Amino acid sequence: MENLQTKKTVLVTGGTGFVAVHTILQLLQQGYEVKTTLRSLAKKDTILKALKEGGITDSSNLSFYQADLTDDAHWDEAVKGCDYVLHIASPFPARDPEDENELIVPARDGALRVLKASRDAEVKRVVLTSSFAAVGYSNNIKDHVFTENDWTDPNTELPAYIKSKTVAEKAAWEFIDKEGNGMELSVINPVGIFGSAIGEITSASLDIAVSGILNGTTNYSPDFTMGVVDVRDVADIHIKAMLHPDAPGERFIATSNGVMSFYDVAELFRKERPQYAAKIQQLNPIDREYYKEISNEKAKSVLHWNPRSREEALLTSADSLMAKS
Ligand code: NAP
Repeated sequence: MENLQTKKTVLVTGGTGFVAVHTILQLLQQGYEVKTTLRSLAKKDTILKALKEGGITDSSNLSFYQADLTDDAHWDEAVKGCDYVLHIASPFPARDPEDENELIVPARDGALRVLKASRDAEVKRVVLTSSFAAVGYSNNIKDHVFTENDWTDPNTELPAYIKSKTVAEKAAWEFIDKEGNGMELSVINPVGIFGSAIGEITSASLDIAVSGILNGTTNYSPDFTMGVVDVRDVADIHIKAMLHPDAPGERFIATSNGVMSFYDVAELFRKERPQYAAKIQQLNPIDREYYKEISNEKAKSVLHWNPRSREEALLTSADSLMAKS
């Protein structure tokens, strides 16, 4: 009997991205028909190379569409015939630009373009990749466990990336509420995403928190801790949120258990991968008061999501980057 799942079509936006390509990989492995958008079709081979490294030799179930978050053109073709849309693309640079609108405009207006086109094409459900940035940057961290009920306040002084993710997620919920016409929306709020670089595709998160520590350019641990999640689990939670009947209308924090400072990451690498440790600098431990508590209970209980440990996510990043260096 034919597997019904093979008939479902999913659009993944921004196929050149780290999270997107891992998600495309899992969708293809599960038998979905996948469409993806790129800013430039010239980058198609980068995606195919990464997928090949992930074990995909036949990419006949994958098609490519050129579309930019800042332009209306081609989104209607990209969403046409899709059952689900995973809107993952959003600018994620290693450094904030001087003008915050360089991030806010494509993040917010891009999300609205994708949602409008999806609604008009009668897509069943959109899963939007937001971020813990939209959850955890306004509440005081002391004695607070961050959950999906927390929101970063976009009307405060914030770094551009954090603001862009908050403004975009808020705009998406408002759109669904007022103009969604019954289309479903689920949101994923990942913390720092790690795991394996694939082909030539990596992410600012790996550049900052893994490469910087391994190559010795990180010489200081700021008073800050981050949640950690493996990109394979981020891809998996997107697919779970796409399918689960209880996911619409909900946001889900995607994090493994516990948080880490840069000092903790450096010590993990030094202990578990001494062969990479020659350039790692001696960082400063940070005070316990800066350790955030972030709950992953909702994703675990509602979606039956079971993430890998933070150590496994970070060591997988380190191994993949060292193997490629
Ligand atoms: P990434 O590798 O930098 O991917 C970003 C993607 O967005 C790329 O495909 C990029 O395309 C695309 N993009 C940027 N501006 C665009 C525009 N104007 N039009 C069309 N596409 C555009 O980052 P990632 O780590 O995979 O992040 C994916 C998503 O997860 C983002 O929404 C990010 O905010 C979110 N997230 C990431 C982390 C993390 O730690 N990595 C944590 C939480 C949330 P080009 O290749 O053409 O630049």
